[in-house]
Amino acid sequence: MDLVPVVSYERASADKAKDEHTVADQRKVNRRTAERLGWQIVRSFTDNDKSAAKDGVVRDEFEQMLRVLRAGKLPDGTTVRGCVVVAEDRLVRRAGDYERFIDAITVVDGRVFADARDTKDLYSENVESMGLMGAVISRMEVKKMRRRVTQWHRKRAEEGTIPNGYRPFGWKDDKRTLDPTQSDAIRQAVKQLIAGHSLNSIVMDWQRQEFVTTRGNAWTPQTLKQLLRNPRLCGWRRIKGEILKDANGAAVVGQWEAVITPQEWEAVQAIFDARRGKQVGEHGVVGDLPHDFREHRYLLTSILRCGRPREDGTLCMAKLRVAQHPDFDHHVYQCRSRSYGGCGRLARRGDKVDEYITEAVLAKLEERTVTAPEVGPWAGASNLEEAEEQLRELRQHWHMKKISNPLFFAEAERLEAEIARLTTERERHSVAVQRAQADITDVRRRWFSETDDDRLDMSQKRAYVREAFHAIIVHPVGQGNGSRSTFDHSKLEPIWRA
Ligand SMILES: [Zn+2]
Repeated sequence: MDLVPVVSYERASADKAKDEHTVADQRKVNRRTAERLGWQIVRSFTDNDKSAAKDGVVRDEFEQMLRVLRAGKLPDGTTVRGCVVVAEDRLVRRAGDYERFIDAITVVDGRVFADARDTKDLYSENVESMGLMGAVISRMEVKKMRRRVTQWHRKRAEEGTIPNGYRPFGWKDDKRTLDPTQSDAIRQAVKQLIAGHSLNSIVMDWQRQEFVTTRGNAWTPQTLKQLLRNPRLCGWRRIKGEILKDANGAAVVGQWEAVITPQEWEAVQAIFDARRGKQVGEHGVVGDLPHDFREHRYLLTSILRCGRPREDGTLCMAKLRVAQHPDFDHHVYQCRSRSYGGCGRLARRGDKVDEYITEAVLAKLEERTVTAPEVGPWAGASNLEEAEEQLRELRQHWHMKKISNPLFFAEAERLEAEIARLTTERERHSVAVQRAQADITDVRRRWFSETDDDRLDMSQKRAYVREAFHAIIVHPVGQGNGSRSTFDHSKLEPIWRA
């Protein structure tokens, strides 16, 4: 099994009293985390706040790491597919850093991230919608809330009680004792998967052995994957997406017999995680920037922030949303009412703001000369050719009865899986090439085009805006009426990304 190449990040805190983890400790923990997940640390990035405790200091290695993650490789060309840290508070010192980190690591699909406790899906909507300034804070609050809601659930589960519901495949009716045949089959499947077999080939194998699910259905790759994703297999339990841990941070072990070890289960998860996002459809197209996860009809919703001062002098900073008024022929960005967390007292002409920000984004894009990372030729070409050639030969031999049926099918299956994997890889690579070649100065045409095939849709435009700004603060234009329809671009304060 190929190990997934990742980087690690360690940070020595400025506050020595509070710092229980030295850099060396963190590095050790990170190495263990990587090992457990079937990952390999190809480079460690380390910053030391002690040497520069002042706020506003640049964390050199952090910035370097972001560049590496964005490029997907080290300066020497070594591929990098993810990142490991001990805990998020090591990674992020300021709210903006978190978003920049997410942006850098999720610039393409299939990247992985883990702290000492668990892997995290940075592509989920939760991460994205947190966005901007308050990312870290709101994340912590959401977590706190979730924790409260699940507390009673947890209490039961913490005692390791057997969950209600169907008898799971692999166990007897008591849901506690292993079914020898079924649990054996699962163990086999795990071995095969780790050895590189596809879900498909395992399912075919199970069908030949006439295994069915506990509800009596034929196994499919989807249901098999669900089964193998279930931490119950190694005696653990997942609640609301997280492995249940005790007060010391160790996984709670249930009162049922385990089929496989936690290490085996985690290896399988790492394989699935690494495969995720590998399927490229027929539409691998140019300018395929990371899309917004939610549909937006307007360019700047949730990117604009309300800049009206509150009574205590701080700015409102609520995200502006769009309102359509029947007596205007344009949309209006406005601050939501108090009950929704805004001040409800700021609004601005949407068409004018969109126009101004669009120009700002395009100007920035056009002044950049180098944008996309350089993409070399695809490294797998000869492997693919070879596999195809082998398959052709194999067929010939079989046709001439030079090899037996079992040997032919076993070998053909292996080669076909290999070819499928390489073909997907090639498609992905060609997308990357196209993207690298996309002429950035062409963006203006595509931006305003109504008809071209490669015109940008709203989510792509939004991606460009997000690439350019952390946020744009809309300051009030002053007292009096008509403020929602007047426009003064000096009242817009873009927070540019570095
Ligand atoms: Zn407001």
